[in-house]
Amino acid sequence: MIAKPCVLPPSIAKYQALIRRLSENHLVKYDVVTEYNNRMTGFLGEESVMNFHLEPIADLNYRIYHDLRFYHGKYFFQIDILILCAYFALVLEVKNWARDWHFEKVLHQTTIDVNGKMERTKNPIFQARLQAFKLREWLKLHNVQGIPIQYLFVNSNEKSNIIIGEDNKYKWNACNSEYLLERIDQITNDYKIELLDEKELRKINKLLLTSHTPENFDLLEKYHVTRKEILTGVHCPDCKHLPMTYNAGTWRCSKCRIQSKTAFNDTLHDYFHLISPTITNAEARRFLQLNSPKMAHHYLNSINLNSTGKFKFKIYHQ
Ligand SMILES: [Zn+2]
Repeated sequence: MIAKPCVLPPSIAKYQALIRRLSENHLVKYDVVTEYNNRMTGFLGEESVMNFHLEPIADLNYRIYHDLRFYHGKYFFQIDILILCAYFALVLEVKNWARDWHFEKVLHQTTIDVNGKMERTKNPIFQARLQAFKLREWLKLHNVQGIPIQYLFVNSNEKSNIIIGEDNKYKWNACNSEYLLERIDQITNDYKIELLDEKELRKINKLLLTSHTPENFDLLEKYHVTRKEILTGVHCPDCKHLPMTYNAGTWRCSKCRIQSKTAFNDTLHDYFHLISPTITNAEARRFLQLNSPKMAHHYLNSINLNSTGKFKFKIYHQ
């Protein structure tokens, strides 16, 4: 069962909003685009594992969770994919890098080839192991104990190789995504004792889903961008060009020529992603580049936002 499906995380949607609302020559544009590309590549890798490689077992007795993030101690820890069944739990750390992974045996250093030079990087097997350790501790705090937690680094990039020695003791903790089902079969065969009944599985399921806290950060603060530098106007839902021109309830794109009556919706979400989780009529007019308070009122009310206050003091909540 897909207990938590793969959807685009809000953090990536924030990056998309910032990219279209920074001018081309803005100082941080390159950094923002680079970080967005890295995050998107990672997400696409996880998506391929969730929707393609794990799909054949989605109807079996496994509960599969994409992207879980929990608070433990002073920090959050995040798990790319978690598989849970009556016998064990399995933490997957997914990487989608277009580089070969070299695992050393003695010091367990991990290197990748960057333009002909071997550079050390974080060992993803140890990252997976650390997430499994944190999950065990976190579950213990919530009175869930005794489930074996396995961990696996999954390379989701079909063009890159895992190079790990036959005598490396972590060789079974890494696999390519095409071999993942086989590894899950092997792990399933290792565990014969049913440790959790359906009631307990449901209890843990509820705990995982209600404790998950999506990553939320102020992107403008992170990149030292001021609100004034954020481009306003409704962007084209198709080609992302902005601003579209508004006339009598319809937005038109001067670049790809499409027309839309609902393009304001995504623009309001850009505002929520970047500026604030709340918006007033005056702020909406400025951001949508509308003159009429009546039309701004109409659009804000048309998308079912919660609101507090009355008349000109009314505040709409994301
Ligand atoms: Zn367009």
